[in-house]
Amino acid sequence: ATPTAIMVGTGKGAEHGILFKSAESLEVAHTVNTVVLDKTGTVTEGKPEVTDLLPAPGADPRELLRVAAAAERPSEHPLAAAILRRAGAEGLEPDAAAGFETVPGQGVTGQVDGQPVLAGNLRMMEANGLSAADFGADADALANEGKTPLFFAWAGRPLGVIAVADVVKPTSRAAIEEFRALGVDVVMLTGDNRRTAEAIRGQLGIDRVVAEVLPQDKEREVAALQQAGKKVAMIGDGINDAPALARADVGVAIGAGTDIAIESADVVLMKSDLLDAVTAFQLSRSVIRNIK
Ligand code: ADP
Ligand code: MG
Repeated sequence: ATPTAIMVGTGKGAEHGILFKSAESLEVAHTVNTVVLDKTGTVTEGKPEVTDLLPAPGADPRELLRVAAAAERPSEHPLAAAILRRAGAEGLEPDAAAGFETVPGQGVTGQVDGQPVLAGNLRMMEANGLSAADFGADADALANEGKTPLFFAWAGRPLGVIAVADVVKPTSRAAIEEFRALGVDVVMLTGDNRRTAEAIRGQLGIDRVVAEVLPQDKEREVAALQQAGKKVAMIGDGINDAPALARADVGVAIGAGTDIAIESADVVLMKSDLLDAVTAFQLSRSVIRNIK
């Protein structure tokens, strides 16, 4: 592409709040045939809300919420924020858990009132000898509704399940349809559980979903697609997404995302709207078409 065509393309992008960090990113974007989307904060708003509070048999709902809030207070995860908002709304503002630790892709641990607490997905509970049946909740049914079931155990006993749901952004569905109309395959990657991810895939007409991905494996999924001959754009917002954004042929960061995602990307969407990602690829195509 000529310098003038690139300048015009970059300028048009800027008018839409699409920042191409280099001429190369604008040129390469037209070759992309696969788009990999992070779920939380990219396809969805990333501001989940508590939808269900399900104490385990014999457990008290208020104690479930109090212990959960204490466990989640030190966490920076959007799921933790949802639980703290709900607890606050019910007048519960417990002190943070002691000895807080994050278990990547699973949840958090610590001590509440001197007793060990586990907060996370079913994988975390199973790693500690508890099964879904011990909680007496139909976690699969929650996940089939697109909700994320979070499990809480305290002092070695199941305390309950708190379901959290995150709203899909208003334009995500249209953007996915447009990608597919451009002949681009759409893949969603998430650390969330398989059923929840599958429910969202079905709602949005996404071609393929890879769920229960550990943070460090997102980059590997992008590399595997590249090895299969695909030209891959990755779109994400989180710390977890940064290596995959750097690895992709074109990394696209959501403007409202974390600094590290924005630094690792080639293109930044200032309005955090997936339709602007479609516009970015259309711009690249038209810049290349005009000069060839
Ligand atoms: P993603 O951002 O793609 O959802 P994460 O690796 O951040 O991926 O989270 C993966 C899963 O681990 C979550 O869906 C949740 O089940 C569990 N998890 C992570 N952090 C927490 C937390 N603070 N409390 C409870 N569960 C958590
Ligand atoms: Mg995310």
